[in-house]
Amino acid sequence: REHAEISLKDIDQIAKSSFPLCMHHLFEKLREDHHLKHGGRMQLGLFLKGVGLKLDDALAFWRAEFSRKVGAERFDKEYAYSIRHNYGKEGKRTDYTPYSCQKIISSTPGVGDHHGCPYRHFSEENLRAALTRMRVGNPALEDVIDKVRNRHYQLACTLTFEAVHGSSCDAGVNHPNQYYNDSQRILES
Ligand code: SF4
Repeated sequence: REHAEISLKDIDQIAKSSFPLCMHHLFEKLREDHHLKHGGRMQLGLFLKGVGLKLDDALAFWRAEFSRKVGAERFDKEYAYSIRHNYGKEGKRTDYTPYSCQKIISSTPGVGDHHGCPYRHFSEENLRAALTRMRVGNPALEDVIDKVRNRHYQLACTLTFEAVHGSSCDAGVNHPNQYYNDSQRILES
């Protein structure tokens, strides 16, 4: 299933049910602002590639959003290249791999950036609001906040996974695509 392809028409549903908070946040911001800065485009773009979004669908997906903000022409000129690049179709033709939790947690998002790990980079207030939107209730929510206070961000994400899916995640979360794959496995079983 890890190499299964996903279809563009299912992407909102899949984002809601199976994306970890870091990716769901980027996804929502992109839908809202029709734009993401470089760090967010890389983090979400490579994740979506790992989820099984084909290059043509990826281009259509980003183009639909960005054209509403910067226009289709500017998207084709300035942004399409880096998406093809992520898929190894430009430049050195490296097949770039999606970012791990460790890499995302140690990133340093600046003002206006939406990438990073929410457990690490959100204020407690914003994190609580995001978790509540994901329907994480008590006592799980307080357990998540407790892990965050102790800087155990991946454990906080694991507890969120378990609360959302009502199922244990014994291996723990160490990669956003692993979170996604485990979620799909549970939802499809
Ligand atoms: Fe994303 Fe990993 Fe942070 Fe979870 S722990 S939100 S998967 S970076």
